[in-house]
Amino acid sequence: MSEKAVRVRFAPSPTGPLHMGGVRTALYNYLFAKKNNGTFLIRIEDTDQTRFVEGAQDYIMDALKWCGIMPTEGPGIGGNYGPYVQSERKEMYRPYAEQLVANDKAYYAFDTAEELDKVREQAKEMGMPNWQYNSVTRTSLKNSLTLPADEVQRRLDAGEPYVIRMKMPRNHDVRFEDIIRGWVVVNTNNLDDKVLFKSDGMPTYHLANIVDDHTMEISHVIRGEEWLPSAPLHVLLYEAFGWDCPQFAHLPLLLRPDGNGKLSKRDGDRLGFPVFPTNWTTAEGELYSGYREKGYLPEAFINMLAFLGWNPGTNQELFSLEELEEAFSLERVGKAGAKFDAEKTKWFQQQHLKNTSNEKIASMLIDKIDGKVSMERLVAICGLMKERATFAEDILKEGNYLLERPASYDEQTVAKKWNENANGLMTEWKNILSEIEPFNHENTEAKFKAFIADKGLGIGAVLPLFRLLITGAGMGPSMFEIAAFLGKEEVLERMQIGLEKLG
Ligand code: GLU
Repeated sequence: MSEKAVRVRFAPSPTGPLHMGGVRTALYNYLFAKKNNGTFLIRIEDTDQTRFVEGAQDYIMDALKWCGIMPTEGPGIGGNYGPYVQSERKEMYRPYAEQLVANDKAYYAFDTAEELDKVREQAKEMGMPNWQYNSVTRTSLKNSLTLPADEVQRRLDAGEPYVIRMKMPRNHDVRFEDIIRGWVVVNTNNLDDKVLFKSDGMPTYHLANIVDDHTMEISHVIRGEEWLPSAPLHVLLYEAFGWDCPQFAHLPLLLRPDGNGKLSKRDGDRLGFPVFPTNWTTAEGELYSGYREKGYLPEAFINMLAFLGWNPGTNQELFSLEELEEAFSLERVGKAGAKFDAEKTKWFQQQHLKNTSNEKIASMLIDKIDGKVSMERLVAICGLMKERATFAEDILKEGNYLLERPASYDEQTVAKKWNENANGLMTEWKNILSEIEPFNHENTEAKFKAFIADKGLGIGAVLPLFRLLITGAGMGPSMFEIAAFLGKEEVLERMQIGLEKLG
């Protein structure tokens, strides 16, 4: 028997921006599909119109694009299983719900919201705070299991509002094997008769999710742990329809850095790191910051996310997306919640910046330098500075002296190093510099070494003076490389200006 083709989906609800936990779910789906020559699709689950947020769908698509994990089927992309937005599939759900009623797996319920509130209130007064519409209570409520058939038909014909509820079997063990969690067993006495179809003519999440996963031929459902409690109902729904159940994999929660609780959307800006892939501004004008705008490379963000719950089983930590596609497996996803680590996230960023070509970094910065240097010079600046940078913009901040002359001189270094001999020493060194030909890295370095040996001085006493005059800074990359980059004329001028200013 041939294996079923791997088809996985990311199924966000457009209720707001995509939390990084959501991006991780999308990423694992994407990686799983790639690894197994499968298809990764996106489906927008917008059956709950009361929670719909304008702009959320565009945000989700844009964020996935930035991350480089675009689906091959989805809204705005196309595919043979569309439409990929549930509200556009609205008409197809009712017959499925009615099929379940006809097969005695579901029933019509006519109880109004007020009536149910009253029952709930009474139960509370009798010491039962968690009243449920279930296999016991349904026997005394207003539904097609308790009302005579002609009465039910009369109500339906009259267009009375109703919902369709799952007829949960009594005392039945639901079992399924989750790829990450192993066997899960839940007794149906703990489950309520969930609404499958609402009075507004829309399916609930549960029904739409199952119908769509089936009709879209989804082979594996990879989603967050918060959906584990719904999985038994989903398994029963597949059984009720007589359909094959996809395989489930419920991913571990993302936890706060201190391990105390779920990482929530408010934690980020409160604890000083983004929890969203890209910036999101609410309708009220509140800004939630994103990794993109903070200057993170998508490669670094993705690498960090991959490790929140998965590990390759080796010491390798740095992965490109292509390498992740090769290495990923659900078997190496753990059950335990994954703690987010802001410092580690910066480390991933630093490493990926180092591995990015100078040309690419320069192209990210060229619009930010007011034409102070050419593209070619900017590429060289990136080469000089990127080892010391975490974000691309650090190169401009910390290496501004490569774009223009220093406007000031680091006070601490002046106080510590610029002593009464400094001016004389640097004047002599300037004269030596003016003689160097060709003025390159190697020659300057060799002359400098000879100069300090001749003076009987250590590097630490002399090099900081040279650096101060040329860059205004106390630290930085090799001074000889900087000198070669700036060229003899500029170096001599900077020395002259510095000597006059520092005296
Ligand atoms: N629409 C659900 C969500 O917003 C999807 C859950 C699932 O993947 O089944 O997360």
